[in-house]
Amino acid sequence: MSKWDIKDINNWSWKKHPLGAIIPEAGTAANYKTGGWRALRPIRDEEKCNHCLICFILCPDTSIIVEDEKVTGFNLQHCKGCGICAYECPRDAIEIVDEAEAASQENQERGNA
Ligand code: SF4
Ligand code: SF4
Repeated sequence: MSKWDIKDINNWSWKKHPLGAIIPEAGTAANYKTGGWRALRPIRDEEKCNHCLICFILCPDTSIIVEDEKVTGFNLQHCKGCGICAYECPRDAIEIVDEAEAASQENQERGNA
């Protein structure tokens, strides 16, 4: 049983929250799309990548997308742009770029499509 009485937590004002965090239910991280915090974005060079999956193992946000044992992209709804994948990639296949510039370029490409 929880040490905290959180029955009516949804009605609490910010003043009632104690210092520190409460996780009322475990295993819910995937429900929170925290990629919006990202200021930097990873970009993978398909030519350099040999699908060793080191980035997949080390990504703290489980944001490397793998299909049939091959890296196919990044889950940008959860990637925080920490750069660990780029730092650890043995083939320098991941570049970290400015998120705002990447998003702007993506929007332009969508507009031109
Ligand atoms: S660590 Fe680098 S080479 Fe290995 S799968 Fe990831 S991007 Fe590809
Ligand atoms: S930048 Fe960080 S969170 Fe994003 S894919 Fe790479 S290791 Fe994962």
